[in-house]
Amino acid sequence: MRGVTFLGERKLQLAEFPDPTPGAGEVVLEIKASGMCGSDLKFYRASGGAASLGLGHVSGPIIAGHEPCGVVAATGAGVSQRAAPIGARVMVHHYTGCGTCPHCLTGWSQMCVAGSTVFGATGHGAHARYMTVPAHTLVPLPDELSFETGAAISCGTGTAFGALRRMNLSGRDTIVVVGQGPVGLSATQLAVAMGARVIALDVSPERLQRAKDFGADALIDPAADNAVAAIKALTHGLGADMTLDTSGAPEGRLTAVRSARAWGTVCFVGEGGNVTIDVSPDMLRKQLTIIGSWTFSTVGQADCARFVTDRKIAVDHLFTHRWKLDQAEEAYRLFDKQTTGKGVFLM
Ligand SMILES: [Zn+2]
Ligand SMILES: [Zn+2]
Repeated sequence: MRGVTFLGERKLQLAEFPDPTPGAGEVVLEIKASGMCGSDLKFYRASGGAASLGLGHVSGPIIAGHEPCGVVAATGAGVSQRAAPIGARVMVHHYTGCGTCPHCLTGWSQMCVAGSTVFGATGHGAHARYMTVPAHTLVPLPDELSFETGAAISCGTGTAFGALRRMNLSGRDTIVVVGQGPVGLSATQLAVAMGARVIALDVSPERLQRAKDFGADALIDPAADNAVAAIKALTHGLGADMTLDTSGAPEGRLTAVRSARAWGTVCFVGEGGNVTIDVSPDMLRKQLTIIGSWTFSTVGQADCARFVTDRKIAVDHLFTHRWKLDQAEEAYRLFDKQTTGKGVFLM
């Protein structure tokens, strides 16, 4: 089979890999949809690939794609019919760890004390026809949801859901969502479904328009306006109850901190980089709660799927581009511009 591998510095390759066979405890999935996530751009752009990003040891070319969704095609020794029925529609929690530490036992294998494998970065991912994963990484895909929706929940949408849950967002709140890429737009869509009022920020007019279509109450282009002043004007001079940075940019994070009201909650979900805050005026004297949120557990992923199903949320509308593997170069070149919606490879 062929798989997409990132060579670094915005180069990728469709390389040949052997068709996988499942080992003990493993499952081979026939991939139906493999999403493109913002963090793939970090792997795509990095000069040393995923290894240079401190995610662990990598040997040899790795198949990209950490939003896997498909059906169970084959199972290895010791995998019960109950754990992975052949033909079952499934998502993958895209990490695996030691399986016995407190984090692994609670479904947070990305935090494994022994170090974890990140599928699509340090272990083979889903930009290919088949993918082999440990059976315990499977999360059932509800019948009502498409494979594309399952792919989105497997990272971007699941990450947005996890952050909103961590913040305890309610229908009483006004939330600022900084960045309207795949994670930010998902946060806008889910926060609206939770009843909150959303103020959406992005420098791309296309992305702001999509946020509006997804129910954002107000739009701000921080390149054109003083974002903090504009948010205060929209919140009776107080600032927002909650702010979520999905950009990972220092200015985006600072806007999230400075536009939160006293006693408010700020959440950082965008990866990489740093931020400098003036602790007393920006944080301490505002009694601010600043939290970080990193993806989700296996249980959180299933919770997200159930929420999306019950509320009939059109997660598929996040996707503006559907690609074949042959088009990987074009797909990532376009995604790299950061003006489009989400992309997905359909096999
Ligand atoms: Zn572990
Ligand atoms: Zn991701």
